[in-house]
Amino acid sequence: MSTYKVSARKYRPQKFSDVSSQEFVTQTLKNAILTKKIAHSYLFSGPRGVGKTTIARIYAKALNCPNSKDGEPCNNCDSCSEITGGVHPDVFELDAASNRGIDDVRAIQDAAKFFPIKGRFKFFIVDEVHMLTQQAFNALLKILEEPPSYLIFILATTNPEKIPATIVSRCQRFPLQRIKIAEIINSIKQIAKEEKIKIDNDSLFLIAKLGDGALRDAQGIFDLSVSFCGEDIKYKELKHFLNIPDKEIYFKISEYIREGNAKEILNYFSELNDHGFDLQTFFNGITEHFRDLMIVNSTGKTELLDESDSIKEKYSSEAKLFSADQISRLMKVLFEAENRFKYSSNQKILLEAILVELSRVNTEVLDLSEILSEIKAVKKKSLTEPSAPAEIKSPSGITDQNLNDTVKEEKKAEVKSITEAPQSIPVNNDKTGKPENSSDIISKLKELFDTEEYKIN
Ligand SMILES: [Zn+2]
Repeated sequence: MSTYKVSARKYRPQKFSDVSSQEFVTQTLKNAILTKKIAHSYLFSGPRGVGKTTIARIYAKALNCPNSKDGEPCNNCDSCSEITGGVHPDVFELDAASNRGIDDVRAIQDAAKFFPIKGRFKFFIVDEVHMLTQQAFNALLKILEEPPSYLIFILATTNPEKIPATIVSRCQRFPLQRIKIAEIINSIKQIAKEEKIKIDNDSLFLIAKLGDGALRDAQGIFDLSVSFCGEDIKYKELKHFLNIPDKEIYFKISEYIREGNAKEILNYFSELNDHGFDLQTFFNGITEHFRDLMIVNSTGKTELLDESDSIKEKYSSEAKLFSADQISRLMKVLFEAENRFKYSSNQKILLEAILVELSRVNTEVLDLSEILSEIKAVKKKSLTEPSAPAEIKSPSGITDQNLNDTVKEEKKAEVKSITEAPQSIPVNNDKTGKPENSSDIISKLKELFDTEEYKIN
């Protein structure tokens, strides 16, 4: 095992220009420093691990640094070093999750009365500020209403909606974004390079995805990966250690769904279940898989997928095997099951039921609206095309409705062959006579459906 030690702390950005994905926030803060338009209270909101306290510290550093340049701190002077080390006498960090009462805010009130000892400004960085009690918020409001000129509050929260409007209205607000997969990958790549850890591309993707938009979480998973795999991280081993279902599994499942093979899908799931995968992760994986297929199926492109190139190629071919309607039906089943799944006391049984439903939803469906519109198109064509005037006209007594009932069974058998192997038979120009009954109409319809013009997608 290596002596490798990495942490989010070690690679925490020390300058605005090192912060990932938050250009809007960092640029605005730099401009504020350069134009000397400093507010007394800021509210940073956003998901966990996206850099709220990191940016707050850089801001405190830049404002108190005697050598600050272009709005960035020098990171060399005493002031910068002390803030980095968390020992600057004018920069206070509090976690409102554990210091949420009135006494804690009174302590801030007391400390706020005194001028800064070293720097120009005195900072209070309050993390998870939404956790404060109502009384504590009232006390905080009093300070924010009349802050001394040297005082700066930076409030950070994952739940801005829980903060009283009276507080929010006194703050400059900065919503921080989730960090893009590509940026997380770059950051992990950089750390791996500095730490001389070999890591393959698929592992980078996996770690970045598991980070779920939070760089700090991805860094934590990277640390864990190093402790599992040593200095050479390979996807196969990593997946095994993290006990993550492989992408291949989802492709296999979508194959069974395509085939409508409920029996095999249950056998397969039973095998998978022996691996002890987390069922929620598994369910999310299936949803994400069909979401990715939907994106590729609708756009014809794979750019929007957060996947490696080899996986993107697979999605490209798999997406062609589903129609847009088929994917929509599958997504509908998954979305309807989502909440039930989360709160289910027996996720295994529910997942089995969902898999069976997924494998049946497209084989059992007979899209009547599709058939109706086809019939209408045929009728319209027979009315507007002089070369085949009476070809498909309904004989008396046959309406769209009863025609459908008859078409239904025939059509059921035909839908598959039509969608899978469209033929290029030209429209029949046979003008020998009107069809006598509905089965004649059906055969006419079938011929039409088989042409390119009426191909059902
Ligand atoms: Zn400095």
